[in-house]
Amino acid sequence: MGLTISITIGVIVLFILAFMVLRMSRYIRPVEPVEAVELVSVDADKAAHHLSEVIKIKTVSSDRESFDAKPFEQLHQTLRDFYPKLHQELKLEIVSNATLLYCWQGQQPDLKPVLFVAHQDVVPADPDTLDEWTHEPFSGEISEGFIWGRGALDIKSQMMAALEAVEMLVTEGFQPDRTVYLAYGEDEEIGGQHGAKKVVELLQERGVQLAAVLDEGGTIVSGVVPSVELPVALVGVAEKGHLSLKIRAEGTPGHSSMPKQGTAIGRLARALARLEANQMPVHYQALTNLFRGLGAAASFSMQFVIANLWLLAPFVRKRLEQSAEMNATIRTTTALTMLRGGVKDNVLPNSAEAIVNFRLLPGDTIATVCEHVRKVINDDQVHFEPVENAFWEASPVSPTDNLAFLSLDQTIRQVFSNVVVAPYLVLGATDSRYYPVISDAVYRFSPYFLSGSDLSRMHGIDERLSVEAMQKMVVFFYHLLRRWTGEEV
Ligand SMILES: [Zn+2]
Repeated sequence: MGLTISITIGVIVLFILAFMVLRMSRYIRPVEPVEAVELVSVDADKAAHHLSEVIKIKTVSSDRESFDAKPFEQLHQTLRDFYPKLHQELKLEIVSNATLLYCWQGQQPDLKPVLFVAHQDVVPADPDTLDEWTHEPFSGEISEGFIWGRGALDIKSQMMAALEAVEMLVTEGFQPDRTVYLAYGEDEEIGGQHGAKKVVELLQERGVQLAAVLDEGGTIVSGVVPSVELPVALVGVAEKGHLSLKIRAEGTPGHSSMPKQGTAIGRLARALARLEANQMPVHYQALTNLFRGLGAAASFSMQFVIANLWLLAPFVRKRLEQSAEMNATIRTTTALTMLRGGVKDNVLPNSAEAIVNFRLLPGDTIATVCEHVRKVINDDQVHFEPVENAFWEASPVSPTDNLAFLSLDQTIRQVFSNVVVAPYLVLGATDSRYYPVISDAVYRFSPYFLSGSDLSRMHGIDERLSVEAMQKMVVFFYHLLRRWTGEEV
């Protein structure tokens, strides 16, 4: 009897193991080698000089009230000087105040156009940190093999690299089959309401539907994705949503010498503690998509675990949650960001307020988060409402089995040899969130290597891009433009 039970259990375990290995084998398909192409040669010094010159122009976004059109006009004139052929061949419209929308008419008007996006604006440099910069933030200094300053990483480089590539193609007499749009917003760093949003409205009004969009986003990283040794080009296929809730608790005002039960601050504190303790549920879709894309580049054991989360999730969840990036990839996050209550040490306030910022996973919605918040707080004297202009849904997820993604994947691997491409979820917010209404295929990728220490330079001190990286970006755009403007996208 005992033997029969042991054999039965053994068979079941073997069956489960076989099933797990089978599931994993679907993940670790070998990455198809990419056909080598002869890469175009690009004048690195010229591209670096052009980027350096536009870094010097202070197109800074801090708030809309202080918007100054002058630096943008100066930037536009500089672009006309640097790219005369492009400006002859492409039609340019100024949208809003200073947003650039170029149109390069394709030979076959029935093919859907493609769009390349970046933004002209940059974040300010914190005045308290100016003496920590090796070169001034708007110096555009070229030294030690780098171009220094705001916009080198985020993201004048991407704008200039695409323009550089178009200028080369126009000079060669290249004519795209498909119409190409280039859109460079004026206010991405403060929400994109006057830039990207207006461009999308304009194109929508004209009935334009795009075959594919490429905006800033993931970069090529090393040592970031667990168990993967090769550098990974992270192509954003979706972007998290955003919801800031103002949470307000009420209490009875009075003198603090005779406090009543249930003060506003006490209620608010309890509500916030509950929200932090009861996070939104986890969903592994973005993580499994990432590892499916990595295929054999990830380790055997990692793929075994990821492919079998249906069984192993309870054992690995804690580990995943410990990493801020992983946690943000598997759930809608809850962040307590602002707090206000009371005016004097001996007065009980009649209300207290906090702001809680949620970043929504595709699949969760503003409505489901609000329902979760209501249930978790469970106190009818605590009210909440979205903060004006601080909420939007997560983006749809762009496909990875279409020609646009395939040609993007191949171009990345042709230009940057020895990297693996994987789809990922963008955790922050970019202008791309406006584009899904005019395209199903929106990709977020900035074609340069970014080390862990370089990441802190973005919006931080000593922002810089190597001259070599700038050159590679131009090469990348040159080849992607050729691919994406052909018939097969
Ligand atoms: Zn940016």
